[in-house]
Amino acid sequence: MKCRACNGTNLMKRGPKAGYQRYMCRDCARYSTDRAPRFSVQTKAMAVEMYMNNMGIRAIGRGAELDPQGPCRTTAAPGAWASA
Ligand SMILES: [Zn+2]
Repeated sequence: MKCRACNGTNLMKRGPKAGYQRYMCRDCARYSTDRAPRFSVQTKAMAVEMYMNNMGIRAIGRGAELDPQGPCRTTAAPGAWASA
């Protein structure tokens, strides 16, 4: 288990979150869980790309086989534009 923000291994357990163990990084003080990311970086990049090409949120969901709210959360999430 590594910190998703800084790749550090200096983590401590900080209780469960939605059924997954939650960790806090001692180096950068950010939280992460051992749960796999819901969408891959490629899927997120593809959804943002489709959105930039004037494609509707629901159409992106159908094309990328995501649930209708998935692209919404991905494209509207803070940092989605910067990291894609
Ligand atoms: Zn960290």
